Amino acid sequence: MQREDRAKVVTAKNAGFCFGVRRAVDTVNDLRSKTDKKIYTIGELIHNSVFVKRLEEQNIFVIEEDELASLEKDKDNIVLVVRAHGIKKEIIEYLEEKGFEYVNATCPYVERIHDIVDKNTHDASLCVVMGDKKHPEAVGTISYAHCDAVVCSDIAELEQNLNTKLTSFEECFVLTSQTTYNNEKYVNCQKLAKKLYTNSKIFDTICSVTEKRQNEVAKLSKECDVMLVVGGKTSSNTKKLADISSEYCKSTFLIETASELDTAQIVRLCKESLKQPNKVFTVGITAGASTPDDILEEVKVRASEIITASGETTT
Ligand code: SF4
Repeated sequence: MQREDRAKVVTAKNAGFCFGVRRAVDTVNDLRSKTDKKIYTIGELIHNSVFVKRLEEQNIFVIEEDELASLEKDKDNIVLVVRAHGIKKEIIEYLEEKGFEYVNATCPYVERIHDIVDKNTHDASLCVVMGDKKHPEAVGTISYAHCDAVVCSDIAELEQNLNTKLTSFEECFVLTSQTTYNNEKYVNCQKLAKKLYTNSKIFDTICSVTEKRQNEVAKLSKECDVMLVVGGKTSSNTKKLADISSEYCKSTFLIETASELDTAQIVRLCKESLKQPNKVFTVGITAGASTPDDILEEVKVRASEIITASGETTT
């Protein structure tokens, strides 16, 4: 094998901004070009600190839900933006009631779950959203329920809630998930619900973008010596990609920018790998749905430079 074929960088096909995030970012950019008013996104538009800083430079700021009242006096000079994750129903009602100007950039896939919960929980005893209790999307989703509603993080918590909150197996409960929930875990939750509760209404609400990325990272990480998962440290979908990758590739690194790359470690792993005859050292790269293209590109370039500097050539 040629020396230049001994190390390579492979990037996942589905990496970086997803449809919903790109739509929200385009919405804000479009708004910026049309108005001189101060723009506030309700919560971070995307979970990426580098990107949030760039927005601040364009007079676009983050306001948290519980701080909105502080903008009431100045509301005629402000436009608010609802981000891709969506927000609680009562916040939308508050904006309407106070007469705030706002643009709703909630991802249509998230709006679909709000709609499911809104329409199907009138006669239900319980609504369960599988996801992260603190995540704004899950918190927003349960606000649309017309019955008792909870966010459960795993199957054990689901079972415990069903046992304690429902009095019979005939009671109706609604099961949905956060768009970024782990597909395999959700299938198990659905099986449990179907087996025990004959009147349960179960919905497939994991975003196909997420599922595709999760399957792709599982496959890619099995073939790689090092995996770089690029994205915000607080981004739920990025963390899930890193978790899946870590299952198959022990040298998985979650990094926000190229500057966080552990060069020494990658060089060491590359050199060790190349001691094995015919072994091709492979660095895999994927990125969360809220990772800007230029940050991903920078990581690709830097990773190639590192393995080149290890004495080998990238592809
Ligand atoms: S991951 Fe899916 S649901 Fe979430 S914003 Fe992107 S396209 Fe929408």
